[in-house]
Amino acid sequence: MLKHTLKSLRRMSTTTAAAPAAKEKVDCVVIGAGVVGIAVARELALKGREVLVLDSGPTFGTGTSSRNSEVIHAGIYYPLNSLKAIFCVRGRELLYKYCSEHEVPHNQIGKLIVATRPLEIPKLNDLMKRGTANGVHGLRMLEGFEAMKMEPELQCVKALLSPASGIVDSHSLMLSLVGEAENHGTTFSYNTSVIGGHLEGNCMNVYISESKNLQNWDGVSPLQPELTLIPKLVVNSAGLSAPALVKRFIGLDNVFIPPAYYARGCYFSLANTKVAPFKHLIYPIPEDGGLGVHVTLDLDGQIKFGPDVEWIDGIDDTLSFLNRFDYSVNANRAERFYPEIRKYYPDLRDGSLQPSYAGIRPKLSGPRQSPIDFVIQGEDTHGVPGLVNLFGIESPGLTSSMAIAEYVAAKFLR
Ligand SMILES: Cc1cc2nc3c(=O)[nH]c(=O)nc-3n(C[C@H](O)[C@H](O)[C@H](O)COP(=O)(O)OP(=O)(O)OC[C@H]3O[C@@H](n4cnc5c(N)ncnc54)[C@H](O)[C@@H]3O)c2cc1C
Repeated sequence: MLKHTLKSLRRMSTTTAAAPAAKEKVDCVVIGAGVVGIAVARELALKGREVLVLDSGPTFGTGTSSRNSEVIHAGIYYPLNSLKAIFCVRGRELLYKYCSEHEVPHNQIGKLIVATRPLEIPKLNDLMKRGTANGVHGLRMLEGFEAMKMEPELQCVKALLSPASGIVDSHSLMLSLVGEAENHGTTFSYNTSVIGGHLEGNCMNVYISESKNLQNWDGVSPLQPELTLIPKLVVNSAGLSAPALVKRFIGLDNVFIPPAYYARGCYFSLANTKVAPFKHLIYPIPEDGGLGVHVTLDLDGQIKFGPDVEWIDGIDDTLSFLNRFDYSVNANRAERFYPEIRKYYPDLRDGSLQPSYAGIRPKLSGPRQSPIDFVIQGEDTHGVPGLVNLFGIESPGLTSSMAIAEYVAAKFLR
């Protein structure tokens, strides 16, 4: 069946605008080849299902999955019994195991969350309690001098050591998951956008178009699909676009679609430094919208600082489906980084920060609102058979990816 669908996908460019779109029945469709979509596709394929992954980009992982801190989080920050807490803890275990078994570069380097003033110590104690309740093992409160002995460049009054935290090469991870999914029969179709859909009887009809046809689209006037897919299961894992996309699914009640907010986070790298000043991940106390400007190391030992939080708006559908977000890093933002970083790294030299890259958080709550959990909806929530929506998969989505996949397959496969 999939072979036939593929032929139709390849034929798409020859379909004239006036011709009605061909319709094809398929087993499972995953929208979005970010780390979460890929992990879901692999899991469904391992369960013996025929899977087609559609991504508007030219390859996998061009969205948030390649624009993050690449940290394997332990599961400390999230409210007890939240999906973030459960999937982070489970996902971390699955991820370390997968990386070890598949030679995906990773390193369990551990993390220090630091209080730089006595005023912050109660918050550190809360994090310790929360993490322990979430099932994070090995957390240990350190006196400032103990932490500064481990990290001589660090300045702090107390620190929470999380030995379970680590780093991973996210590109290698996605490459490995894609390979495994393909070996189990999954097909990836790139430059292929989902532009809408409708519910017909018991089945979601999903409208497909070549991404190049969206280039000059105003996002408002009707766009003729070139192919309509009728899957038994469709997983909307379109990341930043997930809410905007299903607003175009006729038959899904809008009350189930959460408002989308976007928070850009910029990174700066440390220039002209031969030896990395830190061996561990160093995090300040979390701030509104993010985890604070922290220190991350990559697997080559290069240091980067970030991400900060900058709320952005004015995102239209075309921009979002084609990942045309503004990912530029304004060098002036460094001015805000220096004082933040110097709270825990006082010897940071003037002029040593260089603009690096930016990512955008797919958030479900806005500035000064309480953080919202991951939202995973199936028919039991919204009443549309075979449709699974993944909304607000921000941090710790990379860490959680394999646990989300496990959950989606266990709960929604019919
Ligand atoms: C600054 C920042 C730092 C982070 N740091 C960490 C961290 O250290 N650890 C951690 O665990 N998590 C972290 N995260 C979170 C993590 O990166 C994300 O949760 C994860 O990458 C989300 O993956 P995804 O597959 O859901 O989305 P994405 O990677 O965004 O993938 C979505 C895909 O959908 C495609 N798409 C969109 N619209 C359409 C359409 N209409 N049709 C077809 N395809 C479409 C896009 O092209 C894209 O490839 C961070 C996030 C940010 C922004």
